[in-house]
Amino acid sequence: MEKTVLIYYDARMLGHEPSGWDTNHPEWSDAVKAMIAHQYPEASLESYAYPERPERLTTIVERVHAEPVDGQAWRAPIQATHAQLQRVHTVEHLAYIESLVGGSGWLAQDTTAVSPESVVAARLAAGAGISAIEAINAGEGRHAFCLVRPPGHHASTDHARGFCLYNNIAVAAMHARESLGYRRVMIWDWDMHHGNGTQDIFYDQPDVLVVDSHCAAPFYPGTGRLAETGTGAGLGYHLNVPYPTGSGNAALFDVFEQVVRPAARAFRPELILISAGFDCHYLDQICAMDETGFAALTQRVCALAHELCDDRLVMMLEGGYNAQALSDSAHATIRALAGHTITEVNVLPEDEGRAAVAEAARFHAGTIAALGGQ
Ligand SMILES: [Zn+2]
Repeated sequence: MEKTVLIYYDARMLGHEPSGWDTNHPEWSDAVKAMIAHQYPEASLESYAYPERPERLTTIVERVHAEPVDGQAWRAPIQATHAQLQRVHTVEHLAYIESLVGGSGWLAQDTTAVSPESVVAARLAAGAGISAIEAINAGEGRHAFCLVRPPGHHASTDHARGFCLYNNIAVAAMHARESLGYRRVMIWDWDMHHGNGTQDIFYDQPDVLVVDSHCAAPFYPGTGRLAETGTGAGLGYHLNVPYPTGSGNAALFDVFEQVVRPAARAFRPELILISAGFDCHYLDQICAMDETGFAALTQRVCALAHELCDDRLVMMLEGGYNAQALSDSAHATIRALAGHTITEVNVLPEDEGRAAVAEAARFHAGTIAALGGQ
């Protein structure tokens, strides 16, 4: 059955455009050059382009305009306010990011840079989830997809990292909690990279359950081990599911069947949020998923949201760096959110990730059972 899908997008998010290599850039310190040389061993510095680029969004937007999905409804996001961001980030971090308005530069010895319009883009990216949750709460729809950049899940309370300035999905979850009174929110981060920032932010909190499936450390950012399950009151409310590179659709279906769904049924969230990166797509050359897998995962998550939380489901774009993969995957995901049936799903004859996911499910079985006793 066809459902409304609220799609949040603002072209000002394209204004975040850190430059590629330019010998005139004084802010490119020797440390930044060394970092890029290390991460792109086959590319010379001169050919380096910032991978988190505007085309990541335009390829999706153009595709959805060219092949409209029945049920799609375009919406404009708000810019997250200082008070909304401060639910997640320190005053010092917010002041630092604000100080970058109008400037260019690298933020750390990592993969994060800004251009003059980046901070406005980041406020919109962080505001999109708030707008989506407000609209769903008001009954304008039940499913939303936030087409945002910069992404958010590597940003922690006090620093930017991995292309992320503000943690968009954490800002959304905190808004649901603090402003709308949701008592239990669940996040599944299916981006290929571990959402270290999201983990840091909610690590000691029991009212936001996080399941994070990702390529196992030491793959970037090097965190997300099985034993990292939370601390203090949040112990048992963080479930990492690391898998090897090369994992495909079947491994991610197992993550859903063996960890996400049982954990959700035990936790009983009132809202489900997805950190929807598409970098597990085989065109990104590290894992082996494809768009049929993302569509089928989405269909499963929709069924779960229907079962547990009156269909309330918000997806937020995280990573994914191949334009074709982003276009195909986001379009298939939005179609699935609108209730279009998935007929064909590609599955590898041997999926290297399945054994690791089964091991993670065994590791977390007791923790998941305990969620039901909350
Ligand atoms: Zn990623």
